[in-house]
Amino acid sequence: MHNEFPEYRGELEYSCLGCGKKFPADELYYTCPDCKGVFLLNDKKFENLKEIPGKKWQDIFDQRTRTKKNALRGIFRFYELIAPVVEEEDIVYLGEGNTPIITSSPTLTKKIGQPLAYKNDGQNPSASFKDRGMACAFSYLKFLVRKKNWGQVLTICASTGDTSASAALYAAYVGDPIKSVVLLPQGKVTIQQLAQPLGSGAVVLEIPGVFDDCMKVVEYLADNFRVALLNSKNAWRILGQESYAYEVAQWYDWDMQGKAVFVPVGNAGNITAIMSGFLKLKKLNIIDELPRIIGVQSSHADPVFKYYAQEPGKRRFAPVKVSPSVAQAAMIGNPVSFPRVKALVEEYERVGGPGIFNVVQVEEQEIIEGMLLANRYGHIACTQGGECLAGLIRAKEAGLLDKDELAILDATAHSLKFIGFQQMYFEDSFPPDYEIKPKKEFINTPRQVLGEQEKKTLQGREFTLEVGNRIVEILGLSKKEG
Ligand SMILES: *Cc1c(COP(=O)(O)O)cnc(C)c1O
Ligand SMILES: [Zn+2]
Repeated sequence: MHNEFPEYRGELEYSCLGCGKKFPADELYYTCPDCKGVFLLNDKKFENLKEIPGKKWQDIFDQRTRTKKNALRGIFRFYELIAPVVEEEDIVYLGEGNTPIITSSPTLTKKIGQPLAYKNDGQNPSASFKDRGMACAFSYLKFLVRKKNWGQVLTICASTGDTSASAALYAAYVGDPIKSVVLLPQGKVTIQQLAQPLGSGAVVLEIPGVFDDCMKVVEYLADNFRVALLNSKNAWRILGQESYAYEVAQWYDWDMQGKAVFVPVGNAGNITAIMSGFLKLKKLNIIDELPRIIGVQSSHADPVFKYYAQEPGKRRFAPVKVSPSVAQAAMIGNPVSFPRVKALVEEYERVGGPGIFNVVQVEEQEIIEGMLLANRYGHIACTQGGECLAGLIRAKEAGLLDKDELAILDATAHSLKFIGFQQMYFEDSFPPDYEIKPKKEFINTPRQVLGEQEKKTLQGREFTLEVGNRIVEILGLSKKEG
């Protein structure tokens, strides 16, 4: 039965968070045609899913972990909760989802003084969590193209790097009639992130400015021309990203009691999806308790933190002007998904009680050192993963966690994507506006054993012995007995 494609089909509709209007999901909308508000996608038949007891759902999803059906191997293991309108033939699977949760190394756990684990979402195919949403968005797009017999489809997105890497990868795999165009803020993505869409053959357009500038251009294009927008305004991406929550719950045998999920917040699509995912599990009695959610933002890009730092009832949202951040993938001053966060936090607190949602703010220095610290103890955290660890330390200091609460940190990308920042730290070459001063204890640099000139004077065995003996000295090796 784990190899059967699900029979259930939902009835999805876009629900506007601005004016409350609903629109059927047989068209690709980004924002509300009436009020320009952002959408969430709801299944009108969701209530029907409650006819199956929570325990039965657990069994269904657990059974599917054994599937050899490509369509169900990734995020669509949770088909009924994600996009139960696409057909098996539409589903694009490139190995996304099902990323490992790695318990923190014993030394790191001791240092931090709190049980913790990393979910390595950098082990997705394009090396970030964005693949979860992209797998869903592309599956839906294929479904639409097939239904409507569309000719050429140009997908377009603005990106802080990882969205475009992911979009370009999925577009390259799907091929005709889909072609990918990405807009990047010039000089504001890492070399690795630029290399990815280039390698996938996407049209890469660089724009002077920051992400927020690119986003405005993409919106203009999507409003007035025939393009498919793949930014997180695209609500199908949110559905795919909910799989993160489902996988976390499944890994802990559907028991989220005493657990806190830490999420770096940029455009706020990820935290939206994670809250939405846990709420769905709770509504279907697949979990009994919601986990705590703690958003983390850098003081260089912290509009969501600032909003929740105000007194309830008096909160007003204001975009911020960002300054350079090593958590570059989250360097966003005006998050597209803020209305979604606001709506979901209200629901999350209603169901889970006060204190179940928090946002903490951390400094750039803490973020980079969070990454260096985690990786020194065997993890593969990116800067945003470092931001989560910094956030955990902050939350602990602020007394937001219970003593034995398990902190689950989202390493949203692979460390290698952001490795240039590690290099800048080791070389002490951060421009002043990053406000990062390297500390000796975190620095690691290669040591030169022999100079090029010295090498020229040494031949064959002489060279081996000279280098060997210098290494003996550096390492303080003692001779073998006997
Ligand atoms: C996109 C991204 C983020 C921010 O996620 P949002 O959904 O924009 O809040 C964090 N880390 C990485 C690596 C990302 O690619
Ligand atoms: Zn509206």
